[in-house]
Amino acid sequence: MGKCPYCQKSAGIFKKLHKECEVKYNNGKELIKKKSNSFFDKSEIVEIEELEKIADESFIPYDEFEDIMESTFTDNLLNFLDDGTLDDKEEDSLGEYMEHFKLTQEQLNENDSLSKMIRASILRKLLNGEQSTSRMKIEGNLPFKFQKSEELIWLFQNVELFEQRIKTTYKGGSDGVSIRIAKGIYYRTSSFRGHPVKTTNIVPIANGMVAITNKHIYFSSGIKNFRINYNKIITLEPYSDGIGITKDGVTAKPQVFKNVDGWFCYNFIKNISE
Ligand SMILES: [Zn+2]
Repeated sequence: MGKCPYCQKSAGIFKKLHKECEVKYNNGKELIKKKSNSFFDKSEIVEIEELEKIADESFIPYDEFEDIMESTFTDNLLNFLDDGTLDDKEEDSLGEYMEHFKLTQEQLNENDSLSKMIRASILRKLLNGEQSTSRMKIEGNLPFKFQKSEELIWLFQNVELFEQRIKTTYKGGSDGVSIRIAKGIYYRTSSFRGHPVKTTNIVPIANGMVAITNKHIYFSSGIKNFRINYNKIITLEPYSDGIGITKDGVTAKPQVFKNVDGWFCYNFIKNISE
């Protein structure tokens, strides 16, 4: 006799679940998605309590409920970014969503959504010619030695560094196909979905941290530490989950940083070094 994973009651002989519980669960998820999303199209403004009640009655666990609330935030962010930039009004509406549904930074950042919004905001400020300032609160000491007047813009942790072995498959300068979309943005976020860094012909070197400043990209790990001046970069290759960089110099090997936001790094470096 199985136990229904939704209501936790006996599902009956030879059964794993109650069909009606499953329907309730799926409908509940869809309804929460729809009602949370209506905050953005202003068709209906509901309160968080109402949504929690739907989750409760539809056997949706709290962490799944939080995921739905975050996914609505992310979908709208990506929608806003479809033209390349996140404008003031769009950023405000995301902030209002967070406030209205009393979502914490942790809840919204479970899948990096809030950070993605902040990075989009940093890009907008850069394109508008405003001073780039850090919006990261760092606890503890960083292993980097920044120059005077150098500002930390973003920090990525658990980054894998690869070096590309030059073989026939490597196409240098492949960023030549990038096309500007809006005010200095070269790629839409949508072009970064589902194209992870391929690890053929690239050799893992180290695991560490990447700092993006207004002047350099830094890498630090137990075995390898270096920085690259943006002005010394000759090719940039964007990936959904990484960025490939080749710097000036005949012996320079292409380096790939995996587990960074390729869209942000590409557009930030391109625009700040111009
Ligand atoms: Zn059931």
